[in-house]
Amino acid sequence: MITFRKSALLKAMVKIVGPEGCLVEDADVEPFVVDYKGIYRGNTPVVVRPKTEDEVAQVVQYCHKHGVRVVPQGGNTSMVGGSVPDASGNAIVINLARMNGIYEIDILNDTITVQAGCTLAQVCDAATASGRLFPLRIGSAGSCQIGGNLSTNAGGTAVLKYGNMRDLTLGLEVVLPDGRVWTKLRGLRKDNTGYDLKQLFIGAEGTLGIITAAVLKLAPMPTARSVALVKVPDPRSAIHLLASAKEIAGQAINAFELISPDAMSLVLEHLRLERAPLEGPAGWQILVELTSGGGQQELDEVLMRVLETAQEQQLVQDAILASSNAQIEHLWKIREEISDAQTRAKGSVRCDVSVPISRVGDFIEEASARVLEIAPDARMVIYGHVGDGNVHFNPLRPASVDAKDFLSKFGDAITEAADGLAVSMEGSISAEHGVGVAKRDELRKYKSKVELDLMRSVKRALDPGDLMNPGKMLPEDTVPYPHKIC
Ligand SMILES: Cc1cc2nc3c(=O)[nH]c(=O)nc-3n(C[C@H](O)[C@H](O)[C@H](O)COP(=O)(O)OP(=O)(O)OC[C@H]3O[C@@H](n4cnc5c(N)ncnc54)[C@H](O)[C@@H]3O)c2cc1C
Repeated sequence: MITFRKSALLKAMVKIVGPEGCLVEDADVEPFVVDYKGIYRGNTPVVVRPKTEDEVAQVVQYCHKHGVRVVPQGGNTSMVGGSVPDASGNAIVINLARMNGIYEIDILNDTITVQAGCTLAQVCDAATASGRLFPLRIGSAGSCQIGGNLSTNAGGTAVLKYGNMRDLTLGLEVVLPDGRVWTKLRGLRKDNTGYDLKQLFIGAEGTLGIITAAVLKLAPMPTARSVALVKVPDPRSAIHLLASAKEIAGQAINAFELISPDAMSLVLEHLRLERAPLEGPAGWQILVELTSGGGQQELDEVLMRVLETAQEQQLVQDAILASSNAQIEHLWKIREEISDAQTRAKGSVRCDVSVPISRVGDFIEEASARVLEIAPDARMVIYGHVGDGNVHFNPLRPASVDAKDFLSKFGDAITEAADGLAVSMEGSISAEHGVGVAKRDELRKYKSKVELDLMRSVKRALDPGDLMNPGKMLPEDTVPYPHKIC
């Protein structure tokens, strides 16, 4: 329901953030109301771009007083439509891109304190310049922001070693839905004085407040990095290879990424590469990376031992060990471009599921069989961070079938098959991308009533007016989706 007058709202916003901090023209607003995948389009009277925490607080105070809904937005790279407003035009967007200051790097405490609008790449670069590593590694690093990473509890390719955003965060500053500011920007590793409130806001997808700053953990910069691309007989063998690699390489394993045969051919096509790194039929492949603070030769030998042992156990059919940084970057580019290859190919059903690591092989085999019963010609684009049980299970239309036709005919059935199977294996329907709007109504099916009641209680306690990112994450029938473009 519109409870504000547009002209009064705009005047108030301009007063707080200045004219340069308000976007109102259609062409200016467009990139902020359409999601990354081009699936959802919403409306907003204004995109507000504050520069300070105090400006965010003033904007939210105004919105609270006048019943204006708010969509917090970072880099707008959400995979689930979480960062764009709905079609009603009743919500303003608060985009944090101009809040991109690095406050402090404390080398002795191994922490970095940043404004939430810093891009992930900017934070990684700042850490590197100080000889430290900020270890979150995701393909959207150049665009996504720390506030978005926190709000989605982002994961990526180094979770195996360093954990996800929950594990990497020590302190937060948050503007609450009524405009008060909760500041706990401390780099403290131990504090047992009650509820760990920061964890409420991490992974909350902007439904409980706006994160304006954070204290993040840094790690020592590795001095050696060994990478191999390995062909395995099937996903089950990959998981046995992981177990064997853990025994030999222990904490050195940094990434363990699966690539299915169809995912490999799609990305090679996308990158216009004539030759695959490994010769012969693509097969199932694993990109494995070890890092350490020791010598390069020593680490290469550990990786060689991993591969030799796996070969003796018939877990490996072929392998290539990168012998230069250029080769390492090339192998990683192939892995990281799969997501964009799919976006460009159009017509894939994206299921970001997780299962216990020991069930990854069973999941892929059974889910693939179910999908091929539903859509026999689907291309089985499957990849992801299987080292932590996360599978991007994304069946793609056959080249000859129109994307819209494929999605409307098979999309729901494929999603139900994959998500239902993951949950039956004690897994999750969203491992790292969040719920947004794309997955919100599925929660009703897969979460217990008690769990949903608890989530709603938290939401009501912090945001009784449902002003923060309405219609996202929590299943409610009353709030319209952003208009679905396709
Ligand atoms: C090519 C590509 C690769 C990707 N790879 C990965 C991957 O490996 N792992 C992974 O986890 N994700 C991945 N993603 C998804 C996405 O990049 C992450 O979810 C990222 O953390 C979102 O950050 P963002 O700044 O773009 O947030 P947005 O998309 O702007 O917002 C995401 C959610 O967070 C909320 N939000 C944003 N900023 C704030 C804030 N300051 N305070 C409160 N709420 C806020 C929004 O309301 C929304 O609900 C990938 C995306 C792309 C396009």
